[in-house]
Amino acid sequence: MKVLKNVPLSDFSNFGVGGPAKEVIFIDSPEELPELLEGDFLLFGEATNVLFPDEGLDKRIIFNRRGNFQVDGLWIIADSGASLAEIVNAAVENRLSGLEYLAGIPGTLGGAIFGNAGAFGKQIGDIVKEVEYWKDGRVIKSKKIGFGYRDSQFKREGGIILRAWLKLERGTGREKKIQEEVISLRRKKHPPPGTACAGSFFKNVVLPNGEKIAAGLLLDKVGAKNLRVGDARVFEGHANFIINTGHATAKDIITLANLMKDRVRQVFGITLEEEVIIVRDP
Ligand SMILES: Cc1cc2nc3c(=O)[nH]c(=O)nc-3n(C[C@H](O)[C@H](O)[C@H](O)COP(=O)(O)OP(=O)(O)OC[C@H]3O[C@@H](n4cnc5c(N)ncnc54)[C@H](O)[C@@H]3O)c2cc1C
Repeated sequence: MKVLKNVPLSDFSNFGVGGPAKEVIFIDSPEELPELLEGDFLLFGEATNVLFPDEGLDKRIIFNRRGNFQVDGLWIIADSGASLAEIVNAAVENRLSGLEYLAGIPGTLGGAIFGNAGAFGKQIGDIVKEVEYWKDGRVIKSKKIGFGYRDSQFKREGGIILRAWLKLERGTGREKKIQEEVISLRRKKHPPPGTACAGSFFKNVVLPNGEKIAAGLLLDKVGAKNLRVGDARVFEGHANFIINTGHATAKDIITLANLMKDRVRQVFGITLEEEVIIVRDP
């Protein structure tokens, strides 16, 4: 493992934001994880869905970015630190169906399970059949995982995901084509690769009748694309993305997000909920 002291979290987060952490650990292998899970710590994957605080974090920060996986018939058994994109590729190459619509989502499998990551109406929770996780010093294996829209039991109740069993379906032969189409659609809609951001900032709105309204649509209608605070801006191509165009702070981004929320609340009476995880030192 690699251990760094008092380094800025901005260097390790896709948003490029965050003050110093007391200790930052990058694991070399998933076997190193269990011994690190004690005391005051927080664990992240690729930090593609988080906003770290400007004040930094006075605790041990573990980046779980290493992991292996294997394909066994219809199953993929993977460490939480494995790259979701690599797992998607392996599924497609093995003519398995169930992950192709998640192509292009950055980050680790652990991060994806935590937030039940998804796109085009599909989410990782649809195919996760069993998870091995750490909680309060115990390792637990469970087939019952409470997933919701961008939500999981881990988000609500804590626990560190160590490994997961994904069950796919025999492919139809169209998976590769779907994967390519998904990636090309994402290229058109999303900020270009390398942009400092954390994906969609707000969750889509689910009405009581189950109907979903895209947060980006509401934000577009209230003119959010013109908003900026310091170097934090709303992406011109998609109003649900906040991008860091230089030296934005977490404060800039939160102020901008609140302006966006206020506008939507005033015009539509709807309160948007953050999808990005705002990390705070309690
Ligand atoms: C350009 C871009 C596009 C994106 N598009 C999408 C999209 O289409 N759909 C979508 O759902 N998301 C999208 N995202 C958001 C993000 O990529 C996903 O949420 C991803 O699954 C996060 O994985 P990560 O490893 O980066 O998690 P991190 O950002 O590192 O962590 C996110 C949260 O998960 C927790 N966590 C991470 N690993 C574990 C673990 N092993 N055990 C317990 N908790 C853990 C962390 O503590 C944190 O609270 C996008 C992001 C970007 C930058």
